[in-house]
Amino acid sequence: MALTGIEIFKYLPKTNCAECGIATCLAFAMNVAAAKTGIDKCPYISDQIKETLVESSAPPVRQILFGTGSQEVKLGGESVLFRHERRFENQTAIGLLLTTGAACQVNDDKVASFKELRYERAGHKLAADFFFVENDNNSSKDFLNLLMKVKDIAALAVCAYSLQDAKQAMTVVGQCKPLLCGALEEDLEGYIALAKQYGCPLAIVALSLPQARAMTQKALSLGFKDLVFSVGTGGSVAAGLEFSVETRNAAVKDKDKLLGFPTLLYPCAFNKDLPGQFLNASILMAKYASALVMSEFKGQFLYPLLTARLNIFTDPQRPLTMPQSIYTIGKADENSPVVLSCNFALTYFIVSAEIENSMVPAHFIIKDTEGLSVLTAWAAGKFSADSIAAYVKKSGIADKVTHRKLIIPGYVSIESAALEEELPGWQVIVGPQDAAALPAFLKQWSC
Ligand code: SF4
Repeated sequence: MALTGIEIFKYLPKTNCAECGIATCLAFAMNVAAAKTGIDKCPYISDQIKETLVESSAPPVRQILFGTGSQEVKLGGESVLFRHERRFENQTAIGLLLTTGAACQVNDDKVASFKELRYERAGHKLAADFFFVENDNNSSKDFLNLLMKVKDIAALAVCAYSLQDAKQAMTVVGQCKPLLCGALEEDLEGYIALAKQYGCPLAIVALSLPQARAMTQKALSLGFKDLVFSVGTGGSVAAGLEFSVETRNAAVKDKDKLLGFPTLLYPCAFNKDLPGQFLNASILMAKYASALVMSEFKGQFLYPLLTARLNIFTDPQRPLTMPQSIYTIGKADENSPVVLSCNFALTYFIVSAEIENSMVPAHFIIKDTEGLSVLTAWAAGKFSADSIAAYVKKSGIADKVTHRKLIIPGYVSIESAALEEELPGWQVIVGPQDAAALPAFLKQWSC
């Protein structure tokens, strides 16, 4: 179980030297407990104590990594049941099923959809994460060909159904550190040896909690910890959901180390119809599925699922933000209005939508307010005349427009005079308080 800040504090030197970058040992301990910094930042803790703290602070659900470099996928690492208790650490990974039994064209179309269906929302890039490659026709040749085709595109989960096939597959993709799938109880030892050889995690086929415990126990006795529960493809969505909820509860509430591993579930096997499949995926995602395998991607289903994932896995203590930048709305040119606001994502979406509604192309200049809304940012001193002026000067907006008029939110009208002083040559225009009034306001624009 994760240690509290006070428990960690007991192990610290208590000299408040600040070499860790934090003013006091107590504050450092609190930051370590909240996973905001690492225990290794304090140079005065012995390796033995570090090891004790790392072991004691490990999350109840082990974090598992597969894939390499920018394709790396993180599963698990969770320590809470509800995100408001702290946050969820690693978003549910979304995989696409490719099978050797399918026609080449079917797999090619799926791979094309995987590459194509990528989105951006509130400054976040949204996309699927891995291919789940299954040798469902027991053809080693087809299996190796398919793996070769996709191994450089994304992380892989490799499902062979025989240890022999798995060994062959790993000679081709072992260096990509795939998630090795399909280990049954009877050949667990062989799969563990293979996973150890390539430094890969292993997904074990667990049909029930007792079986999952027994297989984990055996793996741990063999010195192997990088496990994922592959929750029976033949089961129902209800059985998958039950397994997912019970393992998270057991790991977090009961401190059951034998069930503290991520889960891999298969909406592709639960539903043949795509709407039902994606609906079930969203339910499983909300209740602890670490990875999901879908039979195919269509934008109208994938995008809502990715958006739901973004909402579930954002840190509730950190508001969604937009990067500080100048956003061009419509075909804005040097005569277009310049509208200023904060970088709270909700504000950005509401205001940018109203600018679009006005049909008046504009430069929308977003200042970093650490995700605070206009009034809150102003009250916190993050949307004051001097800070706005400093950003406007360095933003480059003066090179994009020939006029010198800046529209600020009505809520900070009090800053307009000070802002004009800070920005010589600029005329500050107070815009409406309510974004809904922007279309009518912008229609009056003339530079
Ligand atoms: Fe305390 Fe270590 Fe940080 Fe110094 S470096 S303040 S001793 S935690």
